Amino acid sequence: MKSDTCFGKKSGQHLNQYYDEYEAIDAANYSREQYNNYLIPYQCAKCSFWHLSPKARITPSKKCNKCTAGDGTFKDTYRVKKEAYVRANIIYNEHGIDLQVYECSFGNGWHLTKRF
Ligand SMILES: [Zn+2]
Ligand SMILES: [Zn+2]
Repeated sequence: MKSDTCFGKKSGQHLNQYYDEYEAIDAANYSREQYNNYLIPYQCAKCSFWHLSPKARITPSKKCNKCTAGDGTFKDTYRVKKEAYVRANIIYNEHGIDLQVYECSFGNGWHLTKRF
């Protein structure tokens, strides 16, 4: 259902509102499965319902089946260089860790690695 009070910053359209977190998470999951759209549920300070935010905080990533990180787990891989850069920027802003983007040597996309 559409909110009367809240609008998308970019679209200017009424936001969808959800009564509780579970409903919002359901909607986010649906959107991811159907449209490959990553949305984040958040509780609105203005109307106190839940909305979904199309924030680029969560960048779609998969695991590389060849490259492993220092801790032995498979590295995240990004399909395009830009996504890897977006992710690197988020990590830098949130954790102050400077990461470098490089192309997977097995052709599985782009990885991030700590800069030395
Ligand atoms: Zn709202
Ligand atoms: Zn790789």
